[in-house]
Amino acid sequence: HTGFVAIIGRPNVGKSTLMNKLIGQKVSITSKKAQTTRHRINGVLTEGDTQYIFVDTPGFQTKHGGALNRVLNRNVSQALGEVDVVVWVIEAMKFTSQDEAVLNILPRETPVILVVNKVDALERKNDLLPFVQKLSTRFDFAQIIPVSAKNGIQTDVLLNQIKPYL
Ligand code: GDP
Ligand code: MG
Repeated sequence: HTGFVAIIGRPNVGKSTLMNKLIGQKVSITSKKAQTTRHRINGVLTEGDTQYIFVDTPGFQTKHGGALNRVLNRNVSQALGEVDVVVWVIEAMKFTSQDEAVLNILPRETPVILVVNKVDALERKNDLLPFVQKLSTRFDFAQIIPVSAKNGIQTDVLLNQIKPYL
């Protein structure tokens, strides 16, 4: 199984940290399928017969509104429709207007896994469940998973959740 995984989210939520944790030292670009995307490839993880091709989505734009951005956002939505699974990263307890903008361009026909990152930094663990429950009413996520990209908490579980979609 080989498939494209787009890791998206506003700046500073921990996308690069997560990608590095998931790929670890095993970065290699070996997939033939890798040449068939218009996304930017950040790395490929090969695990047994499964290849995860992690990509960035070009033109990702969430800062401003307006007509130009509507066009850009439509392109982003289309690009996200071309991957096998979208991993949307947010930060635990910190949902901003930039996150809201990302929420509004999530693709309808690609599974979206919501990753709630930085749970290691949570001051009150009990706040997490209501935060997650509220988000679950906003979109039909394939999965919702709290992680710490930095400490590697639940990042292996995330990989296993991505796997069936490849
Ligand atoms: P990106 O802009 O989404 O790629 O975010 P980065 O991966 O560059 O991370 C932004 C900041 O958040 C950096 O200072 C990271 O060290 C920090 N960070 C990332 N993941 C975690 C995490 O799981 N826990 C904590 N406490 N900090 C994190
Ligand atoms: Mg980054």
